[in-house]
Amino acid sequence: MKFKNEAFTDFAVPENAARLARALQDARRDFGQGYPAVINGRRHHTRKSIRSLNPSLSKEVVGTATDSNLSLADQALESATRAFQRWRGVPVEERAALLRRMAARLRTQKAELTAWIIYEVGKNWAEADADVAEAIDFLEYYAELAVRPPPALTPVAHEHNRYRYLPLGPVVVIPPWNFPLAILAGMSAAALVTGNTVVLKPSSQSPVIGARFFEAARACGVPEGVMNFLPGSGSAIGDYLVKDRRTRMVAFTGSLSVGLRINALAAQPQKGQRWIKRVIAELGGKNAIVVDESADIERAAAEVAASAFGYQGQKCSACSRVFVHKRIYEAFEDRILAQIRALRIGPSAVRENTMGPVISKAAQLGIQRHIALGEKHGRLLHGGRAILDRDGFYLEPTLIGRLPNSSPLWVEEIFGPVLAIAPVGSLEEGIRRANETAYGLTGAVYTRDPKRLQLAAETFFCGNLYLNRKCTGALVGGHPFGGFNLSGTDSKAGGPEYLLQFSQPQAISARRE
Ligand code: NAP
Repeated sequence: MKFKNEAFTDFAVPENAARLARALQDARRDFGQGYPAVINGRRHHTRKSIRSLNPSLSKEVVGTATDSNLSLADQALESATRAFQRWRGVPVEERAALLRRMAARLRTQKAELTAWIIYEVGKNWAEADADVAEAIDFLEYYAELAVRPPPALTPVAHEHNRYRYLPLGPVVVIPPWNFPLAILAGMSAAALVTGNTVVLKPSSQSPVIGARFFEAARACGVPEGVMNFLPGSGSAIGDYLVKDRRTRMVAFTGSLSVGLRINALAAQPQKGQRWIKRVIAELGGKNAIVVDESADIERAAAEVAASAFGYQGQKCSACSRVFVHKRIYEAFEDRILAQIRALRIGPSAVRENTMGPVISKAAQLGIQRHIALGEKHGRLLHGGRAILDRDGFYLEPTLIGRLPNSSPLWVEEIFGPVLAIAPVGSLEEGIRRANETAYGLTGAVYTRDPKRLQLAAETFFCGNLYLNRKCTGALVGGHPFGGFNLSGTDSKAGGPEYLLQFSQPQAISARRE
């Protein structure tokens, strides 16, 4: 493959920092703008709208979006169904070229998109920049994958046999807010390049980024109706979109409960439906890192802290449990506390702040409920409080120890800056504890012993296992991403087989006289 990952921006270079600072000022001037639903090229507004707030400064409305109703959902599915008849026949090379143009455009808009991500979901500069880079990667990687020839068939005497991939039909794309550009762009691009049409329902926490991606796609030549932008509440229009007989596939990334609901609803055939719906559901995690007594403690502590508190723990891959060999436990606890104390909390638009807010008041309250349980059953080693003297949804980075094995904090996804820590007697015990969850997304092991690394590879059951490396920061192409068990449907975003999920293979066999 020729594909290479997009480089991250080095903000130590003064021009780069100045460019983003300017983009942040420019974005602020456009705050409060309205973003309509766009169906078959027509813009639609509703009386009710979704208000997208800046979680760093929650009085600020970043933008408002159409709160689509069932009538608009119906129109969007109809538009995608009609457009499919044309789009399915467009040569794959043209569809791939479109994705490359979109990648090139996002590259020119990098600072602008980074600024909007910082404001709309509270990522710090580096995390927001990485989100844009990942979106560019998905576009370029899938463009290259799409034009690969299909696998060769076994020759059969007196026959000419072919194998090809056909598109499926209208795909409902439902992304989360935590990678508001990358995941939304990745799922949409995979659907488009394989010849499907898209109804894109962005998260209600990040419709502005969704709209900006949609605008970029349209400017690059995505035809009317081939992609339809449908901001709206998942609880109001989600079931309708999933159940409708015109929906051929649902590409979802989000929470376990919503994913299971979508999977169940999509499995029930509707009157007139002629296919079994395909569902990709990439869900949550309860990821663990195991550190043994031979590990480089300093490095392990720094990387555990980065995995646990990067983007305030709001990554599906975030580390939320760390098991440390009892011989180094105290030293490790000291080091990780030092790492936590060095975090600087505040508005994400300020470059020096390493930790911003969590996404919403509801998230802040939910995380606090988990912390209260942890405090009741275990011991708060650091943090635990919401920071209420600021106009945003801030929480202290929190470390909890001495939790009994029965605590829900060992098994439930918290999706916030909360890390549970426990000593273990051996690496084996650590891995056993790590596997004691119904999720299976990411995990990591730190040890200098090659035999133990081998043991970890054989026994640590998760979709993305990292050895002597943090458990966040997967790169498209290099780290195909997706979890086992209740973490998902094993589709591996950014991996060599991802596009197969969006296609149906056909075998054509012709007798040769
Ligand atoms: P969420 O609450 O499940 O929402 C995800 C999307 O589903 C949103 O667009 C939401 O719309 C929509 N939705 C809600 N109810 C729906 C319904 N009944 N039918 C159809 N769609 C519905 O998740 P989130 O809070 O946005 O994201 C965080 C979760 O995503 C975490 O659990 C995280 O681990 C997971 N995640 C997983 C991966 C992965 O690759 N495995 C990657 C990133 C995140 P509204 O916003 O309008 O409610």
